[in-house]
Amino acid sequence: MPDLVRVSTLYRQTTFGVAVHGPSHRLVGAAAGTLVLNAHAGSALLQHPLLLLGSLVLGAWGGTAPDWLEVPYGTGRRLITHRTVTHWVPVWCGLLWCAYQGAWAHPTLQLGLQAFLFGGLSHLLMDWPNPRGVPVFWPTKRHSLALWNSGQHDVKLVVLLGTLAVARLLAA
Ligand SMILES: [Zn+2]
Repeated sequence: MPDLVRVSTLYRQTTFGVAVHGPSHRLVGAAAGTLVLNAHAGSALLQHPLLLLGSLVLGAWGGTAPDWLEVPYGTGRRLITHRTVTHWVPVWCGLLWCAYQGAWAHPTLQLGLQAFLFGGLSHLLMDWPNPRGVPVFWPTKRHSLALWNSGQHDVKLVVLLGTLAVARLLAA
């Protein structure tokens, strides 16, 4: 019986942790990307499919950024320790604040950066509730909301954010 529990735990850690959690981060990031652009561009977004596509791609890219910025290599090794500085909430909030300052010479670049950063922030929001948590005040000290295990409610989060993004687009 303990073996069965161990196998089930491993299955959750591998199948859900890798196969499901990565795409979930991309999908939630993509939804977050469209939400930020939608807030800016309003109905104009629907008239420019490239803006919508760009926001989806950049949001999805940002949605996995805190993990790939750790520079994974070999089998499970990373150049930067997992969930430290790349998952540090103040960094992403600070960069997002900068991305909202003033009107940029290239508004499309500004919107793209915001979509990417919102994607990154959505990653932290998905990691925060699980036991490992994310660094909130200090890069080496993580805090967990201890609400659920990694990947446990990813599908619900994807559906929730996706629905919100589509609703906002249709209302624009
Ligand atoms: Zn992460």
